[in-house]
Amino acid sequence: MSTPSRVAVITGASSGIGEATARALHSAGDTVVLLARRTDRLEALAVELGEQALAIPADVTDRDSLVAAAERVQTELGGADILVNNAGVMLLGPFSAEQRDDYRQMIEVNLLGAITTTEVFLEQLKTGGAGDIITISSVAGRTARAGNGVYAATKWGINGWSESLRQELLPDIRVTLIEPGVVATELPDHITHAQTKQAIGEMYGNATVTPEDIAEVIAFTLARPRHLAINEILLRPADQR
Ligand code: NDP
Repeated sequence: MSTPSRVAVITGASSGIGEATARALHSAGDTVVLLARRTDRLEALAVELGEQALAIPADVTDRDSLVAAAERVQTELGGADILVNNAGVMLLGPFSAEQRDDYRQMIEVNLLGAITTTEVFLEQLKTGGAGDIITISSVAGRTARAGNGVYAATKWGINGWSESLRQELLPDIRVTLIEPGVVATELPDHITHAQTKQAIGEMYGNATVTPEDIAEVIAFTLARPRHLAINEILLRPADQR
């Protein structure tokens, strides 16, 4: 007996972990909805995946664009079963007034963006009584380090919010937190503080864990039978301190 196709909405699907998750869930038979700002990358991925892939440009800091996306998912696909809150930015650097635009952006994307996306898709996820919300947090949601204060604050914040949501939404919606260590993606490329960008860039240049490794864990989590909820997974490269 084949598993019925689910509709999975993935934010930040234009690169890295989001893109790999879209590929993994599509391979598992799900219909994937690709959300991000870079339309060209989303459309190229949707074309490559073919059927059961829909690209919808959206900015998680713009609630109107999320509402428009949710309306399309409802109309064209009958609603979402899975939401992967993955969109994020990591604009690291020493705490100073010069970084204040970066701080605001991290809070707006990583924390408010995930909260707003969930709020907008929640009714769809509730329909059918078998939804899933996966949120990509980080090791930085467990361990703060010098230079990552606001990034860590967004990930610590999302951890608390996700646990509260888990208790509110059980048993019809399973809520899962994924907390990766260093994963080889373009995440550090957007850092504005030059010295930090160089140091973190070198660390990411040697990263052994791939976005596909994380996507495989997400696909495994979603494939568990409905009576089992994996609530939290903390995963690091084997050599990460
Ligand atoms: P990428 O930079 O490859 O992916 C980030 C994604 O977020 C992109 O698709 C980007 O798309 C999207 N995004 C950024 N801002 C917005 C926005 N305003 N609206 C919609 N989408 C947005 O990095 P990763 O794949 O590494 O990051 C994915 C998640 O994993 C993040 O939450 C990150 O914090 C987390 N993470 C990553 C780790 C790592 O080491 N790589 C470790 C732990 C956690 P676009 O620019 O097209 O909008």
